[in-house]
Parts: sequence; C-alpha cells; structure tokens
Amino acid sequence: MAGKIQAPAIGIDLGTTYSCVAVWRHDRAEIIPNDQGNRTTPSYVAFGETERLIGGPAKNLVALNPTNTVFDAKRLIGRRFSDPLVQGDMELWPFKVIAGPDDKPMIVVNYKGQEKKFVAEEISSMVLTKMKETAEAFLGLTVKNAVITVPAYFNDSQRQATKDAGTISGLNVLRIIVEPTAAAIAYGLDKKLSFSNENKNVLIFDLGGGTFDVSLLTVVNSAFKVKAIAGDTHLGGEDFDNRIVSHCVQEFKRRHKKDIKMDPRALRRLRTSCERAKKNLSSATETTIGIDCLYDGIDFDYKITRAKFEELNMDLFYKCIKHVKECLDDADMDKTSIHDVVLVGGSTRIPKVQQMLQDFFNGKELCKSIHPDEAIASGAAIQAAILTGQGNTEVQDILLCEVTPLSLGVQIEGDFMSVVIPRNTAIPTHKENKFVTCSDNQRSVSIQVFEGERARTTDNNLLGKFGLTGIPPAPRGVSKITICFDIDANGILNVSAEDLTTGNKNNMTIINNKGRLSTEEIERLLQEAEFFKAEDEQHRRKAEAKNALENYVYHVKSKIENDMNFSFKLTYSEKKKVELAIELATDWLESNQLAEENDLKDKMKEVESICDPILANIYVFQ
Ligand code: AMP
Repeated sequence: MAGKIQAPAIGIDLGTTYSCVAVWRHDRAEIIPNDQGNRTTPSYVAFGETERLIGGPAKNLVALNPTNTVFDAKRLIGRRFSDPLVQGDMELWPFKVIAGPDDKPMIVVNYKGQEKKFVAEEISSMVLTKMKETAEAFLGLTVKNAVITVPAYFNDSQRQATKDAGTISGLNVLRIIVEPTAAAIAYGLDKKLSFSNENKNVLIFDLGGGTFDVSLLTVVNSAFKVKAIAGDTHLGGEDFDNRIVSHCVQEFKRRHKKDIKMDPRALRRLRTSCERAKKNLSSATETTIGIDCLYDGIDFDYKITRAKFEELNMDLFYKCIKHVKECLDDADMDKTSIHDVVLVGGSTRIPKVQQMLQDFFNGKELCKSIHPDEAIASGAAIQAAILTGQGNTEVQDILLCEVTPLSLGVQIEGDFMSVVIPRNTAIPTHKENKFVTCSDNQRSVSIQVFEGERARTTDNNLLGKFGLTGIPPAPRGVSKITICFDIDANGILNVSAEDLTTGNKNNMTIINNKGRLSTEEIERLLQEAEFFKAEDEQHRRKAEAKNALENYVYHVKSKIENDMNFSFKLTYSEKKKVELAIELATDWLESNQLAEENDLKDKMKEVESICDPILANIYVFQ
C-alpha cells in the first residue's frame, strides 16, 4: 500500500454509531465507500477469540459476542468515569466499563482469551484506522493528513481526546472542526452560494441514529460562526425503532397471548425488521414486518402504515421541534431571520420530521440536496482541501470561524468563577487577566481552570489545576499574577501563569488530571495500535492460508468424486494415493482449527507434493 506520492488530505465524520470518510477529488468532495461497498461504516470494534474486527463485520456479530463488541466510544471520549452521563450510558451498554487512573473510563473486554482494557481514544483510533485504510484502498496511496469532526458541544477535553485518537491511528490531524460547520461548508458549495456580501443565518438540524443536534450558524464574510446549540444526546432513529418494536410486542401479545420481551434473540430480530420497515415508510405509505418463527415457532406478520408510525413517534418529533425553538431563543433570534435550514443525519429522511420542520419555518424550503449521512464528511473533506491548498478558488475562499461552547475561567477566592474567555468567543483566541494574592505573605497560588456558565466553580467543570510557587512575601493584593488562556484553531486550551512582581516568568502547564493522555501514553498506545495492526495482518494471512488449503482439498476432492472423465484417467493406486492425502488433510484441518500460518502452508506443501504430480499429468493429457 505505502506509495511515494502522498495522498490528498481526507475528511472524517467520526460518528457515534456510523462514521464516514470523504476526499476532495475532481473538484468536488467524494464519499469513499468501504470494502463492503458501503458509504458509511459502523463505529464498532469487536474483540473475538481469534481476531479483532472493525466496522460492518464487528456490528454484524454483535449478537454473538455482545460483551466484547464496543460501540458508542464517542459518548465516553474525553469524559470522566464519574460523569453522570457516563454512568447513565453504562447501564445501556452490554460491554463493561470501569474507572481507570485519574477517573478515566476503561473499557474491559476479553480478547483472545485474555482480559484487555482500552481507553475510549483507543477504540476511536481503531475506527479511524479503518477509515484511513478505506481511503488508502480507494486512493491507492498512503493517507497521512485528516480533518476530523466533533459535535459543537464537545469541550476542550473531548476535542483533545478526539485529536489523540487520530494521532494513535497514525493520522496527522490537521484540524478538528465542529459537525454543523462541516455540514454548512458542504451545503455552501453544493448550493453555490456566495456568502461574501451578506450575513446569513443557517440552522443545521442533525437527527442521526442516537443523537439529535441543532446548531445555529451565522455566515459573515465567508466565515462560519456557531451562535447557539441545542439538542438531546439520546434522541434519534433508535428511539423511533424502539417505538415500533414495543408496538409489535403488544400486537404479538394480543394475537397469541405470549410475551416475546424475555427473548433477546426474538427482540433483536424484531428490531432489525422494524428499522427496515421505518426506512421503507420514508418512501412508501405502508409496509409489512414479516418474521418467520419469531417466538415459540409462531410467525409474525404485521402491516404498518406511515400514519401509525407517525402516531407512535409524534411526541419524539415534537421534542425535536422544541429543541429548534430553544436554539433560536438561545441565539435571541426569530425563526423568520433564518435564511436556510439544512438537514443532516439519516433520520431527517422521515417525511413527518421534514414536514413539521418546514411548517415550523412557515413553509420554508429545506436544504436536503446533500445526502444527509454524508454532509459532514463532505464538509470535512472540503476543509481538508482548504488547509492543504487543494481545491478550486471557491473552496479556498471559505474561512472558518468557530466559537468556544462554554465560558472558561479560573477559581477566585470564595469558590467564584472568574471568566477569562466568555462563551461563544471566536477561536483561535488569546486572553489574559491579572490577579492579585488574597492573603498577606502568600508564597504560592493554586490556579484551577473551569468551564461552565455558573457563578460558583463547584457547579462548573474542573478542567485542570497547577501551582505557582516562589512568590516573594508581600501584603495581600500586592503580588500580581497574569494568567493567559490560549485556544488554538482546534479548540484546544493551554493555560499559563506569570508572577509579575518579580518579573519572573513561570510558565506552567496544566497538571493532567482530567483524563487527557500524556505524550508518553499516546506513544505507548501508538505502539499498541501498531501491534494490533500486525496481529490483524497475521490473522488475515493465517485465514488466507487456511482458505487456500481448504480450497485445494475441496477442489481435488470434487474433481475425483464428481468428474468421471477426470478420475477415469487415474490408475487405481494413483487415485488411492490422492484420496488418502485429501482425507488426511481434511482430518488435519478439522483437528487443527487454530493452526498457524506456517503449519497451514507446510500442510499445503505436503498435500500438493503428493497430489500435484499425479494431477498435473491428467491436466496435461486431458
Ligand atoms: P446517521 O447516524 O446520521 O447515519 O443516522 C442513522 C439513522 O438514520 C438510523 O437510525 C437509521 O435507521 C436512520 N435512517 C436511515 N435511512 C432512513 C430512512 N430512509 N428513513 C428513516 N430513517 C432512516
């Protein structure tokens, strides 16, 4: 795979349930299909008895290996184990999560018979590796540079952790951009709009499989600014599926007086059929959910109409509209001032959702020309092209401007939050504030950095703390300290402090107590990722060797048993020799299921050395 020419930079939408990768080629963003021909890849990693699977194959096996199939890593990334959201999500996951060092959540799985612990960054890095390899197979080149997207509400720690995941997967993360901005970029080009002369307000309505995000962006002189965000981290297509499932369970009970709720396999089969029915109902007004032997040998056949589906989910659809209202209120904007409403996420294909949204915006045409599952990756690919100087002039004209989702500040006397960078400040940014000591002869200060909108720091989120020592004795209020907050273009924060009284510059780094990975840890995980890659490769070669041997055995056996023209040409002893060799090889394969590549190759040589000379004669004289 590794070539000398460097591939163009790619854009990756690292989603909670699905991921998507795109590249700028032939003057447009092209979505890259994976090895199964799908344009999105499940964000799943499965650890098995013999191998590790990523993407579609991992998701397909989830029923067989639920405790070792990891998904939703995006819900864990950059968060603490004790975070109530993590605690809530954990109840829904079949895999185990425990508290690691510094309250970092660790995912525990059994891989090849041994217990293994992974941080969320590692799981995400495995998904990113899959996306990288997908792009490499498509382009025939080694991919290095990428732009990765994150939700607009991701804080500094979550962005940093996503960037770390990219590094572990061997990518150079050019930039982390937020998903609505990426969608807006894709939309801007798709509609060939000129943003240069007027301000535009764009509402991005992103309803996916498990999450719902509304964002309000303003486009000023070709720069995108996030004005407000709203949404629900647990609202999406899976909830709509669940409503149909519950309805079918009731229907089954009504018809047969039997409860299928206690049968996980039946429920799983039902859920798959219900999702399919839901998708059908986006284009048809009626569809059938039909499952053979669903429970107790009883088939299930149920006709569902679009109207019934809408009735079952109406409260959830209203919830979506409520969040749109909240977002507008938060930005202090009226719905009439929205120029464009953009649909993102697979669930925006539901006609009722589209209609309710359109009605809310007084009949406004919705922007749905971009494939809703692909808009974010397309935008990320365009951004990657901008950053690496590819693309046409239209692309190069777009300038990005993002904002801090939460206020950032330090704790001052009495547990109060002193804001250094207010919420919604455009990034990158550099701000500094001066502080004084609060007691006589104070020799050191502890600088605690928080994010959040509450007045008291106890109600906000502690990002990190560090100390500044060696302050000369002085009455309170005399020693002055400058604290600088720096946020780079990726939204990543660095805080430093300086004692102004002595003129000594003491640049301090934040003590890593919020679950960020250190450089050493990233290095270690990089090596581990390489190790996994080598193991996967080894497994692939082993599977190939096994397949080759089985193929050979099967081919020869079927020739001898089924092709009379062929077997007639063998002498009795030749036929017996070949049959014995094939039988021995078949037995060997059966009793050596876990044989290594070399043993398989040796066996292949052995059987070939017996059969090939005999068979070669026949092939020649046929
Ligand atoms: P995303 O996370 O954006 O890829 O969205 C995936 C969700 O979209 C899943 O819950 C799918 O069931 C849902 N979805 C995909 N296609 C359709 C469709 N045609 N109608 C309704 N929902 C869909």
